[in-house]
Amino acid sequence: MKMLKERLERVEERIQAAARRAGRERSDITLVAVTKKFPAEVVCEAYSLGMRVFGENYVQEFEDKRPALGALAEAQFHLIGHLQSNKARVAADLFHVIQTIDSEKLARRLDGMGKRLEVMIEVKLSAEESKAGASPEELSKLIDGIRACPNLALTGLMTMPPWNDDQEITRPYFRRLAELARQHGLEKLSMGMSHDLEAAIEEGATLIRVGTALFGPRVR
Ligand SMILES: *Cc1c(COP(=O)(O)O)cnc(C)c1O
Repeated sequence: MKMLKERLERVEERIQAAARRAGRERSDITLVAVTKKFPAEVVCEAYSLGMRVFGENYVQEFEDKRPALGALAEAQFHLIGHLQSNKARVAADLFHVIQTIDSEKLARRLDGMGKRLEVMIEVKLSAEESKAGASPEELSKLIDGIRACPNLALTGLMTMPPWNDDQEITRPYFRRLAELARQHGLEKLSMGMSHDLEAAIEEGATLIRVGTALFGPRVR
């Protein structure tokens, strides 16, 4: 508990320092605590320290974990991993925000669940084959498709650049995502993780997704 509290303070200092450098308000940046591969107790511990927004990657894992979390009033859960259409119903039930829409088919499937959902589009900005996400070229059409879904509120873009421990290598991806969001009139930007949250905040991130810097290395 003490360790998590100290790590949270350290992350908080990093966020505030980056916001200050960028001339931004701390309140415009949401810390998404990424709890994938950590048990329910860790989520509860984070909640007791004031964390309210959580990111999970795997629908199945979170479905297993959710009952042990109890009510956790005001907690918000974001899906930040790839979503397969056949898991749309479970995902719509479990999550408040789906950050990883990458096709119209998936959007329509979610829309069909009849629940109001906030969604974001995952954008693939590199040629790396394993990465999910819509290409910048597909964005206009996908955005139109999602905006035609009455149950979905599209609020922004999300990306996960190829991993690099040098933030200056990653920064151009963040800048590009911000530019695409501006072009398409979208307000939120989910970008930046433990090792590059500074560059992300400086480039306009409104949601940063932080796992390791809060919870330590994922062992399982
Ligand atoms: C795991 C994960 C994170 C958190 O990464 P850390 O390096 O542990 O902070 C953020 N975003 C996505 C999409 C992830 O899968």
